This record gives sequence, C-alpha cells and structure tokens, in this order.
Amino acid sequence: MLRDWCSWHEGYAEGTKLVKIVETGSGPGGMLYACGECRVERGLTPLVDEPPPGRARRGPPRTGPST
Ligand SMILES: [Zn+2]
Repeated sequence: MLRDWCSWHEGYAEGTKLVKIVETGSGPGGMLYACGECRVERGLTPLVDEPPPGRARRGPPRTGPST
C-alpha cells in the first residue's frame, strides 16, 4: 500500500485519507490528510468525493409503467 503524508502526526503512514481542505484567499490552499490512527484519535471524518446516495438523482423516479 502507498504511504502518504499525514498532516497530523507529520509523517508518512498507510491508509491516509483526505479529511480537510484549507481554502486560502491567496495561494493554492492545502489538503490535509490524516492516517487511520490520527483520524480515530482526533475524531476526524474523511471527506468523500462521491455524493451521498439519494442526491445524485437524475430525473423523476419511475414508480410504474408510463403507458
Ligand atoms: Zn497520523
């Protein structure tokens, strides 16, 4: 598994996930990754790219035959 930088304990760890995006007025901002241990320790919730189920609905739901 790839080892990525954990911004919380400032070291490389496996299973890091993006937990916070820091937006700044100037500059690129930053994306903070935390490893599993730090997420548990700090109570961090990883951000998920996918929208939650039920919000990606396309058009009205089909509940029956349309003819
Ligand atoms: Zn960590």
